[in-house]
Amino acid sequence: MPVKDTLDALVVTLKNLFRKPVTVQYPKVHRPVPERFRGIFALTTNPETGEENCIGCKLCENICPSHVITVIPEKREGRNWAKEFYLDLGPCIFCELCVQVCPTDAIVMVKTNEVAFFTRDSLVLDKATLMENEKKYPLNWTTGSKLREMQAPPKPQRKPAPPKTEGPSQQKPPEKTKES
Ligand code: SF4
Ligand code: SF4
Repeated sequence: MPVKDTLDALVVTLKNLFRKPVTVQYPKVHRPVPERFRGIFALTTNPETGEENCIGCKLCENICPSHVITVIPEKREGRNWAKEFYLDLGPCIFCELCVQVCPTDAIVMVKTNEVAFFTRDSLVLDKATLMENEKKYPLNWTTGSKLREMQAPPKPQRKPAPPKTEGPSQQKPPEKTKES
């Protein structure tokens, strides 16, 4: 019946008219970004020494299922570095595996969804851009160490040791009575 259908629709409209809106007036209002939001990437530095954390080990390059990371390592000043580092955001599937395997917590993701690129070439982040991102954006909560710790299987709980029982040789001999 058209009248009934119209009334039903009006009831739904009226119900929603007084509901609290779920949308926000972006860009005046920003929704909080979740702690583990997988945004773009950053390369971190040691806050005490200011040295780059990346040791150019290529683990991130090897684990990446999309083959979008290229690391050119070098050795100088008694340690390993990434001489060049490229990450192509175009085919990246934001799986976070590169972050998870990094032994020095050098590569991390940032908590922002407010990045835009206008050419395909600008999707390729080089080392300088990745290092700038550490200062430019808030970092995601996760690092390789934290992810590995979180995903490690629980350690088996130790069973409590059984109470010590005295063996026959340790048992006290019965006390002698006057009659015996
Ligand atoms: S998030 Fe996944 S696909 Fe993207 S660079 Fe890291 S490992 Fe590769
Ligand atoms: S970012 Fe981490 S995993 Fe990748 S090369 Fe540097 S140290 Fe190795």
